[in-house]
Amino acid sequence: MIQLELLWQLQKHYLELNKLERKLKNLNKKDEIEELKVKIHQYEYDLENKKTRLEVNNMKINRYNSKVNQLKYEVKEIEDKLYSGKIRDIKQLTYMENENKKIKEEIEKIETEIILLMDEVDNLKGEIDEVEKTYDELKRNLKQTITENENLIQRVEADIKKEKEIIKEISADIDENSLKKFYTLLKNKGKAVVEIEGDKCTGCYMAVPLSILSKLKYSNSITYCDNCGRILYYKKQEE
Ligand SMILES: [Zn+2]
Repeated sequence: MIQLELLWQLQKHYLELNKLERKLKNLNKKDEIEELKVKIHQYEYDLENKKTRLEVNNMKINRYNSKVNQLKYEVKEIEDKLYSGKIRDIKQLTYMENENKKIKEEIEKIETEIILLMDEVDNLKGEIDEVEKTYDELKRNLKQTITENENLIQRVEADIKKEKEIIKEISADIDENSLKKFYTLLKNKGKAVVEIEGDKCTGCYMAVPLSILSKLKYSNSITYCDNCGRILYYKKQEE
């Protein structure tokens, strides 16, 4: 292949390589993965909190239930005595009846508390189920996103490797001097080889003299733009 055409191809693959390397650097799923991880931590924390509250409530319910049993036993003892007919002292009877009433009120208070706690336990169980569902879903999402990201990285890395090989192959066929100039231009100007559009250099948009234009049309020598110094490329009509 002619040198100019090789340089044109070389630049094409360099630009593609740059694009791929930028893509690899900015693989946007990284942010997505971080975001998911943060969310999962929040749900984990929430779940732990709710489970602790559930445990505490269950403990309270157990404690209140034993307290109620104990108080009911006390009531029974007092009532046994009251109705045994053995106590005849009015004062003592009144005292015991008051005591009995107080304990029964206490039982009622604790039982109301137990009902409230049991309601809360039911709510918590429902909330835990919901949070667990979302949590599992997020974890599945994370796993899938990580796999997808790894696949994407692998694909881009494979493409980069391929481009580098092509660049090496093309470079091997270009003379050293042209290659050196090409790299200097690429480094300093972003593009080393530029197309001519109409009569303009697309590197600097200045008109290219007719003499150069016709020279380019009929020969394939490497010609530089008088104005910007880039290598001029005249694209022949394909087919
Ligand atoms: Zn130019």
